[in-house]
Amino acid sequence: MHSASPIKILILDDDTFMLKLLTRMLAKQGHTSVIACDNGADALKKIDNADTRPDLILLDLNMPDMDGIEFVRYLVDHQFHGNLILVSGEDERMLKTAEKLVHAHKIEMLGYLHKPVNPEYLSELIKKWKSPSQEDQLQSSKKIYRVDELQSAIAHHELVNYYQPKVSVATGEVIGVETLVRWHHPTDGLISPDRFISIAEENNLINELTTYVLTDALAQAKMWYESGLTLRVAINVSMDNLASLDFQDLVVNLVTQAGLSPQNIVLEVTESQLMGADTRIPLEILTRLRLKRFHLSIDDFGTGHSSMAQLRDIPFDELKIDQGFVHRAWTDTTLRAIYDASLSMAKQLGMMTVAEGVEDQNDWELLRQTGCDLAQGNFVSKPLQAKEFSHWMQAWQDRIHNGLIPGST
Ligand code: C2E
Ligand code: CA
Ligand code: CA
Repeated sequence: MHSASPIKILILDDDTFMLKLLTRMLAKQGHTSVIACDNGADALKKIDNADTRPDLILLDLNMPDMDGIEFVRYLVDHQFHGNLILVSGEDERMLKTAEKLVHAHKIEMLGYLHKPVNPEYLSELIKKWKSPSQEDQLQSSKKIYRVDELQSAIAHHELVNYYQPKVSVATGEVIGVETLVRWHHPTDGLISPDRFISIAEENNLINELTTYVLTDALAQAKMWYESGLTLRVAINVSMDNLASLDFQDLVVNLVTQAGLSPQNIVLEVTESQLMGADTRIPLEILTRLRLKRFHLSIDDFGTGHSSMAQLRDIPFDELKIDQGFVHRAWTDTTLRAIYDASLSMAKQLGMMTVAEGVEDQNDWELLRQTGCDLAQGNFVSKPLQAKEFSHWMQAWQDRIHNGLIPGST
């Protein structure tokens, strides 16, 4: 006999027979706090409600309306911090690919199950579930910031830009930086952008935030330029920024005022956001910015579903392969397949390729062998504050000089 388990489980499967079967299987193993949903929209409502929010989701991949992969993307938007088990009748390869996608979204997976589900495997996987430690509890019951707090953070200059270098794989040369904003919170410490960007987006504050980030990044770019360092500075642009034509004028004006050339400014837009429902205005704005010689970059490539045709329509200069398909691609054939496909698609369309999440020498070596243009990641440098930059530059040059970076001496 099993003692009652405290884990709150949600099962999402369009097949009601499967829902009953799994619910019964779980009950036999002592899991009685189980909610069954036959569609993604219902499941998301349960996740949004503190009383029904699950610790663990058993997710079917193939569902007619919102499929499992799409659901995973929504999980991120709905701030789900629990665990996931994928359940599917698909073959091993498909499940592994799905697992990588989940991983790319930074959702913790306990594993996957083939249908028909073997009760022993199910039990084994659930055993891997750990009740969140106190620290994690702090994390997951993480305070959700109010919009007025974020507004005041902007007003009080608590948002600080960090800059992560992008370097040439062939020569080691530092080509540019990506601007990554953080919140230096007076009592909570360093807050990552994942915790406040969506709040800004949902509360009409994203234009203000982006203006703030861009203004500081341009001032910094100018200082670098005046010290003899021409760096291409990238900023992250949210789809909500591209909702009105004012944004375009704003960007053009700020760059002109700073006396910088649009060619040295990169606007990064994530792939999954670009392929949403109505993208006519955003695409028009992007096209116009491109005509003014701004560089456009498609971010997190591999996590959305853009086709070759869609990519051809938008004049992107750069494609960033998502870190979920870069780190360890040298040893994992599934990751490698997505990495290779992204690289060759970019090359065929004449785009510059950037690999994100380059964490070690093996990752770097793969980029070198496959001819990826630029590398970004902790192997090169973590995101830095502006004042740390010149020190890092020196250390990077020393690493190249001492032959520590393969192929760049
Ligand atoms: P992103 O644009 O994909 O940025 C890359 C993220 O990967 C950054 O996380 C960076 O710190 C992290 N990273 C860099 N190197 C490595 C590595 O080697 N391994 C691993 N595992 N991770 C690495 P960060 O700074 O937490 O930013 C998260 C996301 O927040 C960004 O993802 C971007 O989408 C968003 N973001 C950041 N700043 C802004 C902003 O000013 N505006 C908007 N709209 N979004 C922003
Ligand atoms: Ca980015
Ligand atoms: Ca990215």
